[in-house]
Amino acid sequence: MLPHVRSVVADLDPVLRRLADEIAGYELALDDLPVAPKVSPTEIRERLSTYDFADPIPLDQLIGDVAGLLRQWSLHVNHPRYFGLFNPTVRRAGVVADAIAALYNPQLAAWPHAPIANEIERHVLGWFMRALGLDPAAGFANFTSGGQEANQTAVTAALTSAFPEFAERGVRALDGEPVLYVSAEAHHSFVKIAHQSGIGRDAVRHIDVDRRLRLDVDVLAREIAADRARGRLPFLIVGTAGTTAAGAIDPLSELADVARQERLWFHVDAAWGGAAVLSPALRRHLAGIERADSITCDAHKWLSVPVAAGMFFTRHREPILQAFRVEASSYVPPAVPDTYDPYVTTVQWSRRFIGLKLFMTLAELGEQGMVGLIEHQAAMGELLRARLASSGWLLVNDSPLAIVCFTHPAIEDGRTTASEVVGRVVGGGRAWISEVRLSGPITALRACITSHRTQPSDIDILVEELERAIRAR
Ligand SMILES: *Cc1c(COP(=O)(O)O)cnc(C)c1O
Repeated sequence: MLPHVRSVVADLDPVLRRLADEIAGYELALDDLPVAPKVSPTEIRERLSTYDFADPIPLDQLIGDVAGLLRQWSLHVNHPRYFGLFNPTVRRAGVVADAIAALYNPQLAAWPHAPIANEIERHVLGWFMRALGLDPAAGFANFTSGGQEANQTAVTAALTSAFPEFAERGVRALDGEPVLYVSAEAHHSFVKIAHQSGIGRDAVRHIDVDRRLRLDVDVLAREIAADRARGRLPFLIVGTAGTTAAGAIDPLSELADVARQERLWFHVDAAWGGAAVLSPALRRHLAGIERADSITCDAHKWLSVPVAAGMFFTRHREPILQAFRVEASSYVPPAVPDTYDPYVTTVQWSRRFIGLKLFMTLAELGEQGMVGLIEHQAAMGELLRARLASSGWLLVNDSPLAIVCFTHPAIEDGRTTASEVVGRVVGGGRAWISEVRLSGPITALRACITSHRTQPSDIDILVEELERAIRAR
C-alpha cells in the first residue's frame, strides 16, 4: 500500500470500525429492542439542544451519537415483530448501496452526467418490466421517490394522453371537468395528486367495494355513465393490487375490459402488492396487471430495500415524453442518442441514484433468493391467519397477500375496543400492530408481515401478546 493511501485508511479506520460496529450491533440487538419507543417531543428536543454546532465533533464519535439516538427513539420498522405499514426489514446490500450512491453522488438528471447510474436503473427496471408482462423495448419506466410520485406520474400521463390541450392550457382548456375512478379502499395519495394536478379533489370518484373490499365493477360502470350524462370527462380508472388497509386486489382483468370499452387510461397501483409478480406461486393473484397502461410498484415495500425507492412503469412512451418535456439546452448538455434524460421524462429534476439499492439487493440475493423472501413473508401471513383463527379470533379480510385484519368476540360485544387492544400490544414493546377502519364500516386490528426476518416464533409472540391484551380488559 502506498504511504499516502495508508494514511487515508488510518484516518478512515475509526470511522469504518464505528460504522461496522453499528451495523453488526444493530442487527444483533434488533430482535430484543422494544419495537416502539416511549418518548415525547420535548425529551428529544432537549437532547438535541446540546448540539449547538459551536465546536466540531469527530465523525467516529458522531456516528455513535446519532446511531444511539436512532436506536433509542425510533419505531423499529426493521424489527421482525413490526407487523406494520409496508416498511420492510432492509438488507445490508441496500444499506451499502445507499452509502455508495452518496459517495459518488451521481447526478442522474441528464444521461451524460451519470452514464452508468442511468444504465443500472434502466437494466433493473427492464428486468422488472418483463416480470410485469410489459415490453421494455416499447414502454417506459423510471424510479420515483415512492408510490405517490409514481401515481402522480400516471395521472399526469393519463391527462396528457386524454386531453391534447391539457399540456399548454391546463384544465381551463377542457369543456368539462375531468374525473378519475379509484375504489373506496384506494390509497389516499390520489386525493393529494388531484389537488396538485389542478383537477381538484372532487375529481376523485371513490367507487364502492364488494364484501371482499374489491372495487365493484358494476358500480363503476354506472358511475362512468352518470358522469358522462352530466358532461363530466372520465379519463382514468385505477385498480389497486393490494390495498394499504387490507391487501384487497381489485378485479384487474374486468377493470381492463371497462377501461378498453370506455377508452380510459388504466393504472394499477401495486405499490406493495406488485412484488408478488416475481413469485410463480403468487403471480396469479395479480392476473390482468399486464393489461395496464401504467403500474406503480415500490421497491421500498416488499422488496426489502430502504426508502425511498418507488417505480413507475408504462407501456406508452409518447405521453411521458409529452408530459415532462422542457427545453433547457441553454445549460444542460446535449442528449446522447438512444438514451433518455430523466429531467425531461420524469417528475424530478436533480435526481439521486435511487435504483442502486434494488440492483445490489437483487444481485446479491439472486432472483430465486428474492422470490424466497417474498414467499416466506406470504407464508408467515398464512401462518398468522391460521393461528388467529384457531385461537378464537375472527378474520375480517381474505387477502391472498400477507395482511391479516381481524377482531375478537370480546371486541365485537363491546367488552373492550380495537384501539385498547392495539394500545396494550404496542405498549408492551414486543410487537407492533395497528387499528384499521375498512369499508362496511368495520373497525379491526391489522397485522402485516413486512420483514423477511419474521419467523414462526415471532408469530407465536404476537398471538401471545394479543391474548394478553384481550385478558387485560
Ligand atoms: C404505500 C402506498 C402508496 C404510497 O407510496 P409511497 O411510497 O408511500 O409514496 C400508494 N399506494 C399504495 C397502494 C400504497 O400501499
